[in-house]
Amino acid sequence: MNTKEVVEWMQRFTQRDYEAHLASYSPELDDETYTSRFVELDRLYALEEDVYTGISRGREMSEQAKARCTTMRERLTPRVLFQLKKYAHPEMGELYRAYVSGEFKHNVGAYNLILTLAHTKHGLQIVSVDSRCMNCRGSGREDGEACQECGGKGWEHESGRKLGELGAPVEVIKLQAPTNPESRADYEST
Ligand SMILES: [Zn+2]
Repeated sequence: MNTKEVVEWMQRFTQRDYEAHLASYSPELDDETYTSRFVELDRLYALEEDVYTGISRGREMSEQAKARCTTMRERLTPRVLFQLKKYAHPEMGELYRAYVSGEFKHNVGAYNLILTLAHTKHGLQIVSVDSRCMNCRGSGREDGEACQECGGKGWEHESGRKLGELGAPVEVIKLQAPTNPESRADYEST
C-alpha cells in the first residue's frame, strides 16, 4: 500500500469518527439510528484485537444534559492528521502510526491519539490506540523526573494490541504541523 492510499484511508477515518462523535451528542436519535452511525467506523477497527472507538453516549439524559449536548456538538470538529510513521514489524509486516488531534476545536492543534494501522484479513485496520498522557500533557516529564503515569513516554496504551517499541520508522510522512508547542517540538524532532 502506498502512502497516498493510507492518507486517503485516514481521511475516511476522520470523517466517520467525526460523524460518530456528532451522533454521541445527539440524544434525539433513537438507538437504531444511533447504532447505524457506527457501522462504517467500526469496520476500520480490528475488533479481534480488542481495540475500540471509545465513543459512547449517556442513557436517560436529563434536560440539562441534553442541552449540554448541543453545546458539545458545536465544539466538535474532524480530527487533524499531523503525520504518519511507517514501520516494518517482524510479525505484522507494514505498520503505520497516525498522529491525530483531539475531536474538539480547542484541541485540534495538539497531538491526542496515535492510531496504529496494520493489514488484517479485513484490509487496513486500526489494531492499537495510544492516547496522550493527561498527567504530563505528553511531555513525559513531571517535576524534572520521568512521569509516573506513562513512564516518560508521554503516551499511554488505550486499547488493542500492545506493540511495545517499534524501533526507528522506515519513513516519516509529515502532513501538517501541530500548533501546540509541545506537539510541534515532537513533530519537528523526527
Ligand atoms: Zn505522562
